[in-house]
Amino acid sequence: CGIVGYIGTREAYPIIIEGLKRLEYRGYDSAGIALFDGSELKISKTKGKVSDLEARADKEITKNGNIGIGHTRWATHGVPNDVNSHPHISNSGDLVIIHNGIIENYETLKQELISRGYTFKSDTDTEVLINLIEEVKKQENVKLGQAVQIALNQVIGAYAIAVFDKTKPEEIVIARLGSPLAVGVGENEYFIASDASPFLEYTKNAIYLEDEEMAIIRFHKGIKVRKIKDDSIVPAYVQELQM
Ligand code: GLU
Repeated sequence: CGIVGYIGTREAYPIIIEGLKRLEYRGYDSAGIALFDGSELKISKTKGKVSDLEARADKEITKNGNIGIGHTRWATHGVPNDVNSHPHISNSGDLVIIHNGIIENYETLKQELISRGYTFKSDTDTEVLINLIEEVKKQENVKLGQAVQIALNQVIGAYAIAVFDKTKPEEIVIARLGSPLAVGVGENEYFIASDASPFLEYTKNAIYLEDEEMAIIRFHKGIKVRKIKDDSIVPAYVQELQM
Protein backbone atom coordinates (compact mmCIF):
# COMPACT_ATOMS: atom_id res chain seq x y z
CA CYS A 1 0.00 0.00 0.00
CA GLY A 2 3.01 2.25 -0.26
CA ILE A 3 5.32 3.16 -3.10
CA VAL A 4 8.81 4.68 -2.97
CA GLY A 5 11.26 5.16 -5.81
CA TYR A 6 14.52 6.95 -6.46
CA ILE A 7 16.64 7.86 -9.47
CA GLY A 8 19.70 10.08 -9.17
CA THR A 9 23.24 10.08 -7.85
CA ARG A 10 22.72 8.89 -4.27
CA GLU A 11 22.43 5.34 -3.02
CA ALA A 12 18.78 4.44 -3.51
CA TYR A 13 18.56 1.73 -0.83
CA PRO A 14 18.52 3.82 2.38
CA ILE A 15 16.20 6.40 0.81
CA ILE A 16 13.72 3.70 -0.19
CA ILE A 17 13.86 1.77 3.12
CA GLU A 18 13.44 4.91 5.22
CA GLY A 19 10.66 6.05 2.87
CA LEU A 20 8.81 2.74 3.22
CA LYS A 21 8.98 3.13 7.00
CA ARG A 22 7.37 6.56 6.74
CA LEU A 23 4.53 4.98 4.75
CA GLU A 24 3.96 2.13 7.24
CA TYR A 25 0.93 3.97 8.64
CA ARG A 26 -0.92 3.07 5.42
CA GLY A 27 -0.95 -0.59 6.51
CA TYR A 28 0.63 -3.58 4.71
CA ASP A 29 1.44 -7.28 4.89
CA SER A 30 4.66 -7.55 2.81
CA ALA A 31 7.56 -5.39 1.62
CA GLY A 32 10.09 -5.46 -1.19
CA ILE A 33 12.73 -3.56 -3.11
CA ALA A 34 14.42 -3.64 -6.54
CA LEU A 35 17.77 -1.95 -7.15
CA PHE A 36 19.93 -1.65 -10.22
CA ASP A 37 23.66 -0.99 -9.84
CA GLY A 38 24.71 -0.65 -13.47
CA SER A 39 25.09 -4.36 -14.08
CA GLU A 40 22.74 -6.36 -11.87
CA LEU A 41 19.04 -6.08 -11.05
CA LYS A 42 18.68 -7.03 -7.40
CA ILE A 43 15.36 -7.87 -5.82
CA SER A 44 14.60 -8.69 -2.22
CA LYS A 45 11.05 -9.14 -0.92
CA THR A 46 9.27 -10.79 1.94
CA LYS A 47 6.05 -11.24 3.78
CA GLY A 48 6.20 -9.18 6.96
CA LYS A 49 7.53 -5.80 7.99
CA VAL A 50 10.02 -3.40 6.42
CA SER A 51 12.41 -4.49 9.20
CA ASP A 52 12.05 -8.09 7.95
CA LEU A 53 12.89 -6.85 4.46
CA GLU A 54 16.04 -5.16 5.79
CA ALA A 55 17.16 -8.37 7.51
CA ARG A 56 16.55 -10.33 4.33
CA ALA A 57 18.23 -7.79 2.03
CA ASP A 58 21.29 -7.87 4.34
CA LYS A 59 21.73 -11.55 3.52
CA GLU A 60 20.42 -11.64 -0.03
CA ILE A 61 21.66 -8.65 -2.04
CA THR A 62 24.35 -6.02 -2.31
CA LYS A 63 22.66 -2.75 -1.55
CA ASN A 64 24.35 -0.36 -3.94
CA GLY A 65 22.60 1.25 -6.90
CA ASN A 66 21.34 4.70 -7.92
CA ILE A 67 17.95 3.59 -9.20
CA GLY A 68 15.40 1.63 -7.26
CA ILE A 69 11.78 1.06 -6.34
CA GLY A 70 10.26 -0.20 -3.10
CA HIS A 71 6.81 -1.34 -2.05
CA THR A 72 4.63 -2.23 0.87
CA ARG A 73 1.82 -4.56 -0.19
CA TRP A 74 -1.73 -4.89 0.99
CA ALA A 75 -2.68 -8.14 -0.74
CA THR A 76 -5.78 -8.14 -2.96
CA HIS A 77 -4.93 -10.93 -5.46
CA GLY A 78 -2.85 -13.79 -4.07
CA VAL A 79 -2.20 -14.48 -0.39
CA PRO A 80 0.47 -12.51 1.47
CA ASN A 81 3.68 -14.49 0.90
CA ASP A 82 7.21 -13.89 -0.39
CA VAL A 83 6.48 -14.75 -4.04
CA ASN A 84 3.39 -12.54 -4.26
CA SER A 85 5.26 -9.59 -2.72
CA HIS A 86 6.34 -6.81 -5.03
CA PRO A 87 8.43 -5.91 -7.02
CA HIS A 88 7.51 -8.24 -9.88
CA ILE A 89 9.63 -8.79 -12.99
CA SER A 90 8.60 -9.54 -16.56
CA ASN A 91 9.40 -12.86 -18.27
CA SER A 92 12.49 -11.41 -19.97
CA GLY A 93 13.81 -10.30 -16.57
CA ASP A 94 14.27 -6.75 -17.84
CA LEU A 95 11.17 -4.92 -16.61
CA VAL A 96 10.32 -4.45 -12.95
CA ILE A 97 7.15 -3.03 -11.38
CA ILE A 98 5.58 -2.03 -8.08
CA HIS A 99 1.83 -1.50 -7.93
CA ASN A 100 -0.79 -0.35 -5.49
CA GLY A 101 -4.38 -1.07 -6.45
CA ILE A 102 -6.27 -3.69 -8.44
CA ILE A 103 -6.26 -4.79 -12.09
CA GLU A 104 -9.86 -6.02 -12.39
CA ASN A 105 -9.56 -7.66 -15.81
CA TYR A 106 -6.28 -9.41 -14.97
CA GLU A 107 -7.66 -12.92 -15.52
CA THR A 108 -8.58 -12.25 -19.17
CA LEU A 109 -5.27 -10.53 -19.80
CA LYS A 110 -3.42 -13.39 -18.09
CA GLN A 111 -5.07 -16.05 -20.27
CA GLU A 112 -4.18 -14.05 -23.38
CA LEU A 113 -0.55 -13.75 -22.24
CA ILE A 114 -0.39 -17.47 -21.37
CA SER A 115 -1.60 -18.27 -24.89
CA ARG A 116 1.34 -16.20 -26.14
CA GLY A 117 3.78 -18.24 -24.08
CA TYR A 118 4.09 -16.17 -20.91
CA THR A 119 4.49 -17.90 -17.56
CA PHE A 120 3.66 -16.58 -14.10
CA LYS A 121 5.36 -17.12 -10.76
CA SER A 122 2.86 -15.34 -8.56
CA ASP A 123 -0.92 -15.17 -8.17
CA THR A 124 -0.97 -11.38 -8.43
CA ASP A 125 -2.71 -9.09 -10.88
CA THR A 126 0.49 -7.02 -10.87
CA GLU A 127 2.64 -9.69 -12.54
CA VAL A 128 0.05 -9.75 -15.35
CA LEU A 129 0.44 -6.01 -15.86
CA ILE A 130 4.24 -6.07 -16.13
CA ASN A 131 4.08 -8.87 -18.70
CA LEU A 132 1.38 -7.04 -20.63
CA ILE A 133 3.72 -4.03 -20.75
CA GLU A 134 6.52 -6.30 -21.97
CA GLU A 135 4.32 -7.84 -24.67
CA VAL A 136 3.12 -4.43 -25.89
CA LYS A 137 6.71 -3.13 -25.92
CA LYS A 138 7.77 -6.07 -28.11
CA GLN A 139 4.73 -6.18 -30.40
CA GLU A 140 4.53 -2.43 -31.03
CA ASN A 141 8.27 -1.89 -30.88
CA VAL A 142 7.85 1.18 -28.69
CA LYS A 143 9.71 2.73 -25.77
CA LEU A 144 8.83 1.88 -22.19
CA GLY A 145 6.70 5.00 -21.61
CA GLN A 146 4.55 4.26 -24.65
CA ALA A 147 4.29 0.58 -23.78
CA VAL A 148 3.05 1.46 -20.28
CA GLN A 149 0.54 3.86 -21.76
CA ILE A 150 -0.84 1.37 -24.30
CA ALA A 151 -1.02 -1.37 -21.65
CA LEU A 152 -2.84 0.86 -19.17
CA ASN A 153 -5.44 1.63 -21.82
CA GLN A 154 -6.24 -2.10 -21.87
CA VAL A 155 -6.58 -2.27 -18.10
CA ILE A 156 -9.70 -1.88 -15.99
CA GLY A 157 -8.94 -1.06 -12.40
CA ALA A 158 -7.10 1.26 -10.06
CA TYR A 159 -3.41 1.78 -9.69
CA ALA A 160 -0.35 3.69 -8.74
CA ILE A 161 2.63 2.09 -10.48
CA ALA A 162 6.33 2.61 -10.94
CA VAL A 163 8.21 0.68 -13.64
CA PHE A 164 11.76 0.60 -14.94
CA ASP A 165 13.76 -1.34 -17.50
CA LYS A 166 17.18 -2.57 -16.37
CA THR A 167 18.46 -2.20 -19.94
CA LYS A 168 17.57 1.51 -19.79
CA PRO A 169 18.24 2.42 -16.18
CA GLU A 170 18.11 6.20 -16.61
CA GLU A 171 14.33 6.25 -16.61
CA ILE A 172 11.38 5.45 -14.36
CA VAL A 173 7.79 5.49 -15.64
CA ILE A 174 4.95 6.11 -13.19
CA ALA A 175 1.16 6.33 -13.54
CA ARG A 176 -1.85 6.83 -11.35
CA LEU A 177 -5.56 6.14 -11.31
CA GLY A 178 -7.24 6.11 -7.93
CA SER A 179 -4.07 5.82 -5.79
CA PRO A 180 -1.92 8.82 -4.86
CA LEU A 181 1.55 9.44 -6.31
CA ALA A 182 3.96 12.31 -5.73
CA VAL A 183 7.33 13.13 -7.30
CA GLY A 184 10.01 15.01 -5.37
CA VAL A 185 12.16 17.05 -7.70
CA GLY A 186 15.78 17.52 -6.66
CA GLU A 187 18.88 18.52 -8.59
CA ASN A 188 19.55 15.69 -11.03
CA GLU A 189 17.48 13.40 -8.87
CA TYR A 190 13.87 12.41 -8.42
CA PHE A 191 11.97 10.80 -5.59
CA ILE A 192 8.72 8.95 -6.11
CA ALA A 193 6.31 8.19 -3.29
CA SER A 194 2.70 7.67 -2.27
CA ASP A 195 2.94 10.93 -0.31
CA ALA A 196 5.67 13.52 0.21
CA SER A 197 6.86 12.25 3.61
CA PRO A 198 9.62 9.96 2.21
CA PHE A 199 11.38 12.84 0.42
CA LEU A 200 10.64 15.91 2.55
CA GLU A 201 14.15 15.92 3.98
CA TYR A 202 15.72 16.00 0.49
CA THR A 203 13.57 18.45 -1.43
CA LYS A 204 10.68 20.84 -0.96
CA ASN A 205 9.67 20.72 -4.61
CA ALA A 206 6.98 18.24 -5.55
CA ILE A 207 4.75 17.33 -8.46
CA TYR A 208 1.51 15.56 -7.61
CA LEU A 209 0.13 13.38 -10.38
CA GLU A 210 -3.62 13.66 -10.96
CA ASP A 211 -5.76 10.64 -11.73
CA GLU A 212 -5.30 9.39 -15.31
CA GLU A 213 -1.85 10.95 -15.58
CA MET A 214 1.50 9.29 -16.11
CA ALA A 215 5.04 10.62 -15.99
CA ILE A 216 8.28 9.64 -17.65
CA ILE A 217 11.10 10.59 -15.32
CA ARG A 218 14.56 10.79 -16.85
CA PHE A 219 17.64 11.33 -14.80
CA HIS A 220 19.34 14.47 -16.28
CA LYS A 221 16.59 15.07 -18.82
CA GLY A 222 13.65 15.94 -16.57
CA ILE A 223 10.10 14.83 -16.18
CA LYS A 224 7.29 14.65 -18.72
CA VAL A 225 3.70 14.37 -17.55
CA ARG A 226 0.93 13.27 -19.90
CA LYS A 227 -2.61 11.95 -19.94
CA ILE A 228 -2.83 8.18 -20.08
CA LYS A 229 -5.86 8.25 -22.35
CA ASP A 230 -5.02 10.65 -25.15
CA ASP A 231 -1.32 11.38 -24.98
CA SER A 232 -1.78 15.12 -24.38
CA ILE A 233 1.03 16.80 -22.45
CA VAL A 234 0.19 18.15 -19.02
CA PRO A 235 2.34 21.00 -17.68
CA ALA A 236 4.36 19.59 -14.76
CA TYR A 237 3.29 21.92 -11.97
CA VAL A 238 5.97 22.03 -9.28
CA GLN A 239 4.58 22.85 -5.87
CA GLU A 240 6.60 24.09 -2.91
CA LEU A 241 5.93 21.89 0.11
CA GLN A 242 5.32 23.52 3.49
CA MET A 243 6.79 21.90 6.59
N1 GLU B 1 -3.25 -5.95 -6.27
C1 GLU B 1 -1.86 -5.99 -5.94
C2 GLU B 1 -1.54 -7.27 -5.17
O1 GLU B 1 -2.38 -7.87 -4.57
C3 GLU B 1 -1.39 -4.75 -5.18
C4 GLU B 1 -1.94 -4.63 -3.78
C5 GLU B 1 -1.52 -3.32 -3.08
O2 GLU B 1 -2.19 -2.29 -3.30
O3 GLU B 1 -0.55 -3.33 -2.31
O4 GLU B 1 -0.42 -7.68 -5.16
